[in-house]
Amino acid sequence: MAASEPSAITVVEVDHEISRGASNLRFSRSIERLFLEDYLFNRARMVTIWALVGTLMYCMALAGDFSMVPDVAPIMLFLRLGVFVPFALLVILVMRLRPTARNYDMLSFGVGVLGIALPMVTLIFASGPYLFIYQTGSVGTLAFFVIVLRPRFRTVILGLGVMTAIQLTTIHINGNFDEVRYGGIVTFYITLVVFLALSAYFHENMDRMNFLHRLRGELLQEELRVQSEQDVMSGLLNRRSLSRYERELWTTDSTSTVVSAIMIDINLFKSYNDSHGHLAGDACIMAVSQIVRGTVGACGKAFRFGGEELLVLLPGIYAERAAEFAEQMRVDIEAAGIHHRGKGIGGTVTASFGVAEVLMQESSFQMLLQAADTALYDAKKAGRNTVKVWGANSAEIRELRNQTKA
Ligand code: GH3
Ligand code: MG
Ligand code: MG
Repeated sequence: MAASEPSAITVVEVDHEISRGASNLRFSRSIERLFLEDYLFNRARMVTIWALVGTLMYCMALAGDFSMVPDVAPIMLFLRLGVFVPFALLVILVMRLRPTARNYDMLSFGVGVLGIALPMVTLIFASGPYLFIYQTGSVGTLAFFVIVLRPRFRTVILGLGVMTAIQLTTIHINGNFDEVRYGGIVTFYITLVVFLALSAYFHENMDRMNFLHRLRGELLQEELRVQSEQDVMSGLLNRRSLSRYERELWTTDSTSTVVSAIMIDINLFKSYNDSHGHLAGDACIMAVSQIVRGTVGACGKAFRFGGEELLVLLPGIYAERAAEFAEQMRVDIEAAGIHHRGKGIGGTVTASFGVAEVLMQESSFQMLLQAADTALYDAKKAGRNTVKVWGANSAEIRELRNQTKA
């Protein structure tokens, strides 16, 4: 499926479209937009190959011009090479510069109409015993337009209408076909065009239904991924998500050079559980998690690291700024005033914070976590309810690096 943002569309919307069916060949606005992206992606990647193959075959028909209608063959030589070939090149160019579904349909229409019009308008002035055979060449052009180029149904109908009109009018004007032959030709083309139109309709209908089922599968998969990466209790991301995010940061995110981490631990939480019970403990973790998530916002990601320990990762943010985030969280958690009646506690729930930063090119994720954990340990030692930043001096970085290697 095209690389777009399907996240704005829900499975319910897609299910609704599936239950409606695609008989009117049109979806709701947002799904139609995605379908057209997919349609364009599939058509555009084949444009060059079909333009070249189609043009080659169209030029090979020159052999037929010279053998069947030699009186107009020189004109056809000019039209095929001097008009159709440049038009095919124009198709490639436009689809490279302005690839839209609308342009694709218009250009396909142009290819079909020009493909029929050039030989058939010329045929008006031709005579000889092979005119009947010669005009059957248009079948190839009709098939190429409907089966190979496969524009949307509306374009197919318009194209088939114009192409058939040209075909039957030019043969009629030529005047070399008696009534019975002309009647046979009319019957043949009308039958062919009806079958081609029906097949185009059912193909687009099937394409659209396949697209909906594929989209539904992708959305469900994404939903499952999000669920599997979420900690049910706190609503934060879980360790599975952390592993994926780590890979994402260290392998694909080349825009950020620095990343900061805030390791958060709720103070004296064992005592909170003992005095208030585990259910209240769970509610406390949820409340603290919400404050953390609200402060981080879109600047980073918040994870439940384990138990009552949370972790925030802030790509592209230096330790000084990360410490400001941490201080904001510390103040907000204390201000939330969650009553803590454990022995020797100041009356409310508080947390301690360890902040660290690393340059991604120089340090590993493990080094970042270890540094944040060291800072958290310092915060606990310093009396809790405080923010400590891991001293980012080069001696410590070296020491940590050596420790990680050992
Ligand atoms: P410190 O200030 O040094 O961090 O003290 P602490 O009591 O918070 O230290 P410790 O890390 O030893 O205690 C954490 C406690 O958190 C132990 C465990 O029972 C509790 N805990 C871990 N996960 C959960 C949970 O999901 N729900 C509840 N209610 N308690 C949890
Ligand atoms: Mg702990
Ligand atoms: Mg604790």
